[in-house]
Amino acid sequence: MTPIKLAIAGVGKIVYDQHAPAIAGNPDFQLVATASRNHSIDGVTAFKTMAEMLDSGTQIDAISLCMPPQYRYEAARQALRAGKHVFLEKPPGATLSEVESLKALAAEQGVTLFASWHSRHAPAVQVVKRHLQQHAPRRVEVIWREDVRHWHPDQEWIWQPGGLGVFDPGINALSIVTEILPQAMFLKQATLEVPANRQTPIAARLAFTDALGTDVQADFDWRQTGEQTWDIVIDTASTHLHLKKGGHELWIDQAPGELPVEGEYPSLYAHFCQLIRNKSSDVDVAPLRHVADAFMLGEHVVTDAFV
Ligand code: NAP
Repeated sequence: MTPIKLAIAGVGKIVYDQHAPAIAGNPDFQLVATASRNHSIDGVTAFKTMAEMLDSGTQIDAISLCMPPQYRYEAARQALRAGKHVFLEKPPGATLSEVESLKALAAEQGVTLFASWHSRHAPAVQVVKRHLQQHAPRRVEVIWREDVRHWHPDQEWIWQPGGLGVFDPGINALSIVTEILPQAMFLKQATLEVPANRQTPIAARLAFTDALGTDVQADFDWRQTGEQTWDIVIDTASTHLHLKKGGHELWIDQAPGELPVEGEYPSLYAHFCQLIRNKSSDVDVAPLRHVADAFMLGEHVVTDAFV
């Protein structure tokens, strides 16, 4: 089949680290252009803006949008209106309503919209999902603690409204939990710690439950130095599961689980290709909705200024 001619808008850390290598390794895609104010990819036709790229006459079938979430809606709208299939980096937008607006526009235009959640493509996720369909979870504990200075240096957008703060990584954990749990959960209580000089939280503690009374606790913290923790621990009536390293390692009853080897971004692009070929979309806002609930229901506590 002819490769899908793909463009990327918003070239930065995640594009260089993950998108570019995943696309280069997938013969279903051909990277034909970028639209980014200051960055580009060697050997790929570069434009400064989405409008310039769309007006250039370059043949483009699909566009991956990788700029920060606050700036994604307008770019997505332009791309969809031009009849392009769209891949949204996570989180899919700055608000739930704008994602719904994009979903309606994609349906109207007859093109694919993919709201991607890369952590759902970590190798342990589907293995655990199948396990929990046989063994109902009773207690889930999420521990997502990392060092913001190491992972997000100079990313001012992350501290601004819509940037989500510690929920930027925390939403990855929520994307896994919402994928693996057999029942939809909902938030009961939350505490958000916001630095005195910032707009978004540096730490959050969340308590969820579901219709069956499952206890789901989450601890997100950006102040962890030394060893970093992206763990989910699950107890069922008869088994104990421990997902480590964001779902790249799995222990069931203290024994290592067998996992597939495909990486997150190669798997994301394989799924995007399937969606385009099947003329369908995949837009699940559940992780973003939980974050919105946390901002709505959570107690906001002012903590030390972040410098
Ligand atoms: P980033 O490097 O800070 O930003 C990506 C690019 O977006 C920038 O290089 C910039 O390119 C463009 N941009 C920045 N501000 C903009 C604005 N006001 N208007 C238009 N474009 C703007 O961010 P990132 O780490 O790649 O993250 C981007 C998205 O990917 C986020 O939603 C993040 O949650 C997600 N993500 C990140 C990671 C990670 O490890 N970093 C992992 C998974 C997902 P130009 O200056 O060239 O325009």
